[in-house]
Formats: sequence, C-alpha cells, structure tokens
Amino acid sequence: MTTRVFFLSGAACIVEHMFDTQVAPWDSFDFDLADTIEGEEIRAQLRRKEAEISRLRADQIALLRRADRLQMDTADGARTMADWVVSELDVSPQTAGRLTRIARSAQADIESRMISGEFGADRAVFLCQIRELGGPEEVITGSSEYSLGFLYGLIDRLRRVDPLTEQMMFEDRYMVLQPTLDRSSGRFWGQTHGTDWQAIEKALIRRESQFPSLPDQSQGQRRVDALAAICLDSITSGETDEVGRAVTVAEVFVDAALAASTYGESGVTLSSGPRVGPNTLSEILCIGKVQVIVQGEDGRPIGVSDLGEAIPPAVRTFVLFRDQGRCQIDSCPSRYRLQPHHIRERADGGDHDPDNLISLCWYHHHVAIHMLGMRLDLESPPHRRRLKSITSNGPPR
Ligand SMILES: [Zn+2]
Ligand SMILES: [Zn+2]
Repeated sequence: MTTRVFFLSGAACIVEHMFDTQVAPWDSFDFDLADTIEGEEIRAQLRRKEAEISRLRADQIALLRRADRLQMDTADGARTMADWVVSELDVSPQTAGRLTRIARSAQADIESRMISGEFGADRAVFLCQIRELGGPEEVITGSSEYSLGFLYGLIDRLRRVDPLTEQMMFEDRYMVLQPTLDRSSGRFWGQTHGTDWQAIEKALIRRESQFPSLPDQSQGQRRVDALAAICLDSITSGETDEVGRAVTVAEVFVDAALAASTYGESGVTLSSGPRVGPNTLSEILCIGKVQVIVQGEDGRPIGVSDLGEAIPPAVRTFVLFRDQGRCQIDSCPSRYRLQPHHIRERADGGDHDPDNLISLCWYHHHVAIHMLGMRLDLESPPHRRRLKSITSNGPPR
C-alpha cells in the first residue's frame, strides 16, 4: 500500500490513502482461521490488526481536522469538539480527547507513522504533547524504545508550573468536616496541592496495607478506616503497642422506652455528644468503664449503674502474654493496637476472666466485630479463631 501525505499551509493535511480500499477488516478477517492458529501467528495477527486500527484512526484524524475547520461541532450545538466526537463516534471522552488533540496538533511526521501502522493513537497523542512542550526530539523519533508509561511521565515533567499557578494551587487548599446534626456520622472533603496530597495518599495507602483483609471490604472503606487509625494514633501520641491501657470512661444515657422498643437502635446517647447504636455501645462496654444512666419517660434518671470496672491491668498483661502479643484471628499477622475482647459480651454477663478474653488487633476488634457485627466462631480453636457474620438483631439488652 502506498501512502502520500500532503501538508497545506502547515496545518491542514489531506491523507490520500483514506480512499484506499485495502483496509477493510470486516470482510477480510477469517474468523474460522482465528480458531485454529497458534503461538507466534496469534501475536502476528494481533499486531497486524492493531496496525490496521492505527491506519483507520489516522483517517479519522484527517476527517476530524476537516470537521473542526468547518466548525461542525458548533453547528451541532456541542460544547467542545471532543464532546461532538463522543456523540458522533460513540467513543469514551478519553478516546475522543486523544483524536481531537492529534487532529489539532497537526504533526505530519507523527501522523504518517500512525498511517504506516508503527503506533496507534495513544502513543501518537503523547508524542504530539512531548513536541508541543519542547521535549527531546530523539524521544519522538526513537519512541519505540520507551513505554507509554515513560512517555506519560516525561509529559508530566515537561509541564511547567509557574509560580503564580503554584501559589494559587496552594491557596486553594481547604478541608470541610460536616457532621450530621446528632453527630452519629460525618462527611469530609477537600483539596490540597500536589506534594501534600501525595503525603496524604502515601500515608493512607501504607496504613490500609497493614490491615487484614475482610470479605466485601471496598477500597474506599479501607481508606477511611486507615484515616481513623492514623487519627487515633495522633490523639494517643501514637503509642500503638500500649495494648489499650488508656481506658475509655463513657457515660451513656438510655431512654428506657425508646431503647427497648427499638432493640437499642435509638434512645442511646453518649454524654460527650454522638448518638450511638448498639454496635458502638457493645464496643464501649468491651474496652472501657461505662456508667449507664437510664431515663424515664419524663426525662429524669430512673436508674444509674455502677461505674463498671475496666479489665484489671494484670489481666490485660496476662492475656496479651498468653496470646503471644498477636491477634488471635486465623492468619492475621497484625499487632496494631491489640485489645482484649470479651468473648461473651459484657452486656450478656461476660466477665473479665482471662478465659473470656481474647487479644484482637484494632481492625478485627473495632471494624470486624464491633462495627460490622461479625462474631467469633466458638467452634474454632482458641488461638486460631475464625469470624462469622451475624446479621440478625438480638433482643434488647
Ligand atoms: Zn470487643
Ligand atoms: Zn487481626
């Protein structure tokens, strides 16, 4: 196949080969043959087809350049040329953006290499960008020596950030913390400039990679758990090996009628503010001292519990020693914020006897058991516990 490319006034080009009928994959491909070929021939066929795609893309790019000059996108009421391409060709915005970009860049040599099947639109758009940003010409001519990832990285480096843009990016930093009215949950969002953002991302990824894996955990959930763990370290001076010695003292107000009628799902409030559900309450009962104040219908206290005893320090130390200072869930290697958990929960009458306590890492204790409501499988061996999911509500406690 012969190809001739003419450039007129440096920008518009007419690609003569587009009228060449040699490229017609829909009637030249032998599907029966595809089921029989093997090894190197598969590779060769794949590359040949990719080269055909590149040639056809180059044809489209020439047509798009013409459409752009005629402002067909504006005539059709599209917001941008790329939007017009998305709707005309039914391609993703990324593909449309690349084709439009190559068309507008009008780099004759790069397009003729596409036409010859040397590379496709992905590499072509990177090479156009590298030239526009004043990148090294030898990378463009010898581009086959470099991966797409390398070229992308080079574009990133060539992009200049002037001092004013940098200052604006820094000044635009913000973070919003928005709790719900009863503080039972909260949203947060914000933005910051590149290097700080990288530090935040790196810290979250590092922390979440230390968590054991639980079934059905999304990456977003693991990430917010990682943020909570980092914050927890921050308010306890990062003493992660301190085996939960800092005892939580919580006063819990229980609206007797409301709590009883909803299995503890409403009517329970911590004195420090947030409204909590039965899961949080069971965790508070497990790790700290709790005083429960029960309110009658007129809002006056009708009963106050003793300040429940926390686990005695000697018992904590013993349990940790017995469990070899590691989480007792099967195959969990974590030693992060090990906490003794009550196998029979305190609300069910479980006590601080070492036989009723098991060392669990923060993730298995806080996230898996008390937040997701998973339970220890009591059939599993004591030093190789498994978890099981329980979804039903228990009776009011
Ligand atoms: Zn617990
Ligand atoms: Zn664990």
